[in-house]
Amino acid sequence: RNVSAKPYDHPVKFTRDVWFTERDENIALSLKHDGQLYKKESPFQKVEVFATQAYGNMLTLDGMVMCTQKDEYVYHEMITHVPMLSHGRVKRALVIGGGDGGTVRELLRHPDLEEVVLVEIDALVIEACKLHLPETASAFDHPKLKLLVEDGIKYIKECGDNAFDLIIVDSADPVGPGEGLFTAEFYKEVYRCLTADGIMVTQSESPRFNTEVFVEIYDCYKGIFGKDNVHCYLAAIPTYPTGTWSFSFSSKGNSHPLVFDRETAAEFSRKNDLNYYNEEIHAAAFALPNFVKQLLNKK
Ligand code: SAM
Repeated sequence: RNVSAKPYDHPVKFTRDVWFTERDENIALSLKHDGQLYKKESPFQKVEVFATQAYGNMLTLDGMVMCTQKDEYVYHEMITHVPMLSHGRVKRALVIGGGDGGTVRELLRHPDLEEVVLVEIDALVIEACKLHLPETASAFDHPKLKLLVEDGIKYIKECGDNAFDLIIVDSADPVGPGEGLFTAEFYKEVYRCLTADGIMVTQSESPRFNTEVFVEIYDCYKGIFGKDNVHCYLAAIPTYPTGTWSFSFSSKGNSHPLVFDRETAAEFSRKNDLNYYNEEIHAAAFALPNFVKQLLNKK
């Protein structure tokens, strides 16, 4: 199997009853752990890694779960392979955020990709993941990767027109340093930097939990890319609030996420021994429950 799915060999016997809890206003997620492997405060956020029993090592930023060794493959396979296989000819890709390395690891499975630029604001996220989530951070030395530790908002403002076929906004929630990655101003710059048939993909929060943000950002994408060029797809991620997570797919040209070569997608999934993505999941992820459809039509 691909490395991200290997069962986590827990090095220490469970001796204490210690829990990490991500608390929101009305719900909380708790995971039992053996202790903290990493704790540093950067100018942007508190970066921590816990050794959890259920999901292996887990990265948190300001107390919010970002990824775990055991379920990160869902998020990273879905945020990359859906646009890569839909477009089919991506040569240059940009990832904003994504300092855990999972998104670039998945992108770099595509041999025709010529360059990937990763712009992460916080060097400590990269350090923590290299140390404690090495399977996720496994592609940082890839020769096609250009890694920049700087603000993605500044980068995109200074980026030339038509520079990338695919731009992935792999951000945390719209608080702290990631707040500016959820604004119309930022998405307009992303649009400008895409090639004529380029695609923007973002993680777009939980439609059940972050309802207000969800409605707002889709409205914003539609205003920039055009109503018919914005699509939402879902994946099941156990360690994110509610377990139902959404991604947005916005196309500058007329790429449609459901018009893709199923045989190529199936072959890609088999060849790379992927854990989540396959040609059936690609299509099925765009089938939305009624409550999500209603939210998307709200504005
Ligand atoms: N998969 C995760 C999730 O949805 O919970 C998110 C990935 S997390 C690695 C997002 C990353 O975006 C963080 O490492 C954070 O430091 C980075 N980030 C936040 N604001 C940024 C900015 N303005 N420019 C570049 N990276 C940023």
